[in-house]
Amino acid sequence: MCETCGCAVPEHGHESHTLHGAPGADVRALDVVESLLHANDREAAHNREHLDSHGVLAINLMSSPGSGKTSLLESTIDALGARWRIAVIEGDLETENDACRIRAKGVTAVQITTGSACHLDAHMVHHALHDLHLNEIDLLFIENVGNLVCPASFDLGQHRDVVLLSVTEGDDKPAKYPVMFRKADLMLLTKSDLLDVLDDFKPEAATAHLRALASDAPVLCLSARRPASLAQWIAWLDEQLLRHRPAVQRPLAVG
Ligand code: MG
Repeated sequence: MCETCGCAVPEHGHESHTLHGAPGADVRALDVVESLLHANDREAAHNREHLDSHGVLAINLMSSPGSGKTSLLESTIDALGARWRIAVIEGDLETENDACRIRAKGVTAVQITTGSACHLDAHMVHHALHDLHLNEIDLLFIENVGNLVCPASFDLGQHRDVVLLSVTEGDDKPAKYPVMFRKADLMLLTKSDLLDVLDDFKPEAATAHLRALASDAPVLCLSARRPASLAQWIAWLDEQLLRHRPAVQRPLAVG
């Protein structure tokens, strides 16, 4: 597990974790973690100001590893065409593989390799923003490290959080990882083309588990392999961008 993410923080979902050591050590450890999170929040606010000054909408994509974040980005780039100017920040422990896949689509991608860290943080994203020309971007996707726990605790400066749950996972994931799913502005049920052969995943059950968290976030079912299934996702992106940038001058392209 990551050594820098503060996995002992109660809100981090590790309430039962016990810190052992000298008397007072647990209190000092929590003080350090809270200080780190406050520093992260300050840098995230700075990132958001930076993005806002250029009218860029940033969307943080979070999920388990292998739920199809990069595939969704590839198909989203194809579906959007020239509608919006896109850039991507990719987060992985190692390799530049995902950034290469995005660049192959003709879209700028900055890879962050986190080493042992199981999440992105605001400082990493701040560095990545300096490698982007924000005045040439409408929509910035941040693909977080595949992990349903730690990324939920770190604000990056994004405007929306989208959580993917693939139909190859359990439909009770929202119940098991409430901090992550409660944070979602949108839940995407991905790899829906496999629903025909996976009869143990019920989209309505996943939605019910999300609603049990008092979340009214929309839920969309789609497959990166089936472009027609992306229509509501694309419409959601359009709506968010137009809401975020009321003064946007560029008309939506047809198709
Ligand atoms: Mg990926």
